Amino acid sequence: MLRVSNLIVLAMFCAGLVAGPAAAQGPGAIDRARLLAADRAPQDWLTSGRDYGKTHYSPLDAINRETVSHLGFAWDFHTDTQRGLEATPIVVGGILYTSGVAGRVYALNAATGALLWQFVPDVDYQMTRGTCCDEVNRGVAVWQGRVYVASLDGILYALDAASGKVLWKADTIVDHARGYSSTGAPEIAGNVVVIGNAGGEYDARGYISAYDLASGKLAWRFFTVPGDPSKPENNPSLRFAVRSWDPHSLWKFGGGGTVWDGMVYDPVLKLLYVGTGNGELYPHKERSPKGGDNLFTCSVLAINPRSGKLVWFYQETPRDQWDYDADQPMILTTLKIKSVAREVLLHAPKNGVFYVLDRRTGKLISAAEYAHANWFKGVNPKTGQVIENPAADYSSEPRLVFPSTVGAHNWNPMAYDPQTGLVYLSLADMGNVLADASDHPEYRKGLWGTGVVAIFSSQLSAPESLPPGIRALLTPEHLLKGNPDLSTHGYLEAYDPVRQKIVWRVGSAGWWDRAGVLATGGGLVFQGTGTGRLRVYDAGDGQLLKDIDVGTTIVAAPMTYSVDGVQYVAVMAAWGGGGWAFPHPESAAYSYGNEGRIIAFRLGGGTVPLPAPLGPPPPLPEPPAQQASAETVQKGMGLFFQNCVVCHSNQTRSGSADLRRMTPQVHEQFNAIVLDGLFKSAGMPGWGDVLSSTDADAIHAYLISLANTAYDQQQKNGGTEKTGGGLHGF
Ligand code: CA
Repeated sequence: MLRVSNLIVLAMFCAGLVAGPAAAQGPGAIDRARLLAADRAPQDWLTSGRDYGKTHYSPLDAINRETVSHLGFAWDFHTDTQRGLEATPIVVGGILYTSGVAGRVYALNAATGALLWQFVPDVDYQMTRGTCCDEVNRGVAVWQGRVYVASLDGILYALDAASGKVLWKADTIVDHARGYSSTGAPEIAGNVVVIGNAGGEYDARGYISAYDLASGKLAWRFFTVPGDPSKPENNPSLRFAVRSWDPHSLWKFGGGGTVWDGMVYDPVLKLLYVGTGNGELYPHKERSPKGGDNLFTCSVLAINPRSGKLVWFYQETPRDQWDYDADQPMILTTLKIKSVAREVLLHAPKNGVFYVLDRRTGKLISAAEYAHANWFKGVNPKTGQVIENPAADYSSEPRLVFPSTVGAHNWNPMAYDPQTGLVYLSLADMGNVLADASDHPEYRKGLWGTGVVAIFSSQLSAPESLPPGIRALLTPEHLLKGNPDLSTHGYLEAYDPVRQKIVWRVGSAGWWDRAGVLATGGGLVFQGTGTGRLRVYDAGDGQLLKDIDVGTTIVAAPMTYSVDGVQYVAVMAAWGGGGWAFPHPESAAYSYGNEGRIIAFRLGGGTVPLPAPLGPPPPLPEPPAQQASAETVQKGMGLFFQNCVVCHSNQTRSGSADLRRMTPQVHEQFNAIVLDGLFKSAGMPGWGDVLSSTDADAIHAYLISLANTAYDQQQKNGGTEKTGGGLHGF
């Protein structure tokens, strides 16, 4: 029989007033018991999404509808980097752990922002030629006194949570000559730490690798797409998957299916859920000429982390040819559907369709558009099979496809609030024209090559800004059928996953302005903006309750925790990720530069210190005279678009060097930089194995031509450069 005092303790336990199972001790002491009791210890934020389901929801409610007007600056920490910051920090025991550019790790006092230690990986930047979307990192995993992070070049590190000292490291890349890089957060799954990689726009064959938590020994590796079927295959899942590919598929292109972000482990069901990326090459008829769904691209996989074996899969986009990665973060929760509590997995991949899956079985519960998706007609409710709209098939002629390859929703974390029953996510409402670039795509090992030409609908309104070869593809009469609106939008959306309804939307500054989301027990939704604000909305109706100017572009998700009873909200701030080379003229990065910061807020805090404004852009310097022939310039343009344009947009205040502004010394050293990797440590690898010195001369000639055109325009304009100039004006 329970004594009264025990009953009181039990009541306090249920009310969350005392800790649950004995909490582990010491820095970074997160374990299974602590994770399962996360809701009873809301002062901590234990995974990238707080709890094991990664809801990005915190029960903390000191900051709420009534008090949020007093929210202000608590502290900031300067990362001394200029690239994108995408991670959601982890907080345990008053210490904040997070990752930055290329896999740097910071441990801070969560109440003051004081640096406890930092880790800077020794990245081999020659590998960064296989990096599509900035040198970002989406977070650390903290477990039993260790901090796990993967550096951009694919080295997985286990660090001592107390000191940052390297305990072990493992090279996770099977072939460094291919276009692999690592930007996702590792995931703890039972006794292993699991990491994937990126490279679906290069020649990657996707896989994840699992390592023993303590020793770093490889436990298993799971490839997400088959290899060349003429070679032996031991994995029964891949012997099954290969039947969905033409045996004469373009295997050398890797096939894609990369796991560059979304992974989540359910410690109760003991299943690891993994999202996979696009098929590579993009055009399905080139990749797998005789058809097939091309498993397991664009899929959610459930894997048993003890064996590394596949338990179930659901392919969200069969026959992908639109870059519809399914790597976006997944949320595990329980929903009442038709009066039955279902353990579900919520997912909003790039393809514009919101999926609710039964996470025990992989069975589809619902699939409905959260954004305009003209490739999708619906799902057969009996089989779960997707019904595709042939109007989005560009295999015989260019087509305007919604969503674009940017994705309706991308890596920016979404949040699920159990109080409102709503999911909050950022989205881009935008299409793109896709055209098959070649019947016989050239294979270039380790280098960018998707096999398509993509023109975003935002560019279609100003076709004169497009290269002439692309302009010729634009034939509006058939492209625009059924898609009359070329305008582009960005939104924060509240979506009801049970009723499959969009409940409210708030417009952002544009399709480029979309950041991760936090929901809290205070009835609030927090989101940063590209224009450098932290905004707080009423979770019920989207009403803006607080708008704080921080002066630094935000794309990451805010998170919240408390120390000594004080609730903080923290967010990493810097423009980057896909599109890092195109800072929008309205962005804070354009006005204030892009120095990375971690910014924390609290009630009663002050005004956020703003970075010093950059002022108007300096004039373009006078470039050298053109000495090369028109033919050489033309050749250089082709080589530039093939090799350089992924990073170099040559826009004013681009994240990468604006090559219209090269100094006389850079002109002098051009070939040493391009071919020999003179600036490798700054992130510009050498290309001497790909380009000849004649090629480099031609690229140089093209850039001199580009610089002269821009300079002449500037002089005609009274010495002022036209804002937003360059190759990819919005
Ligand atoms: Ca992709």
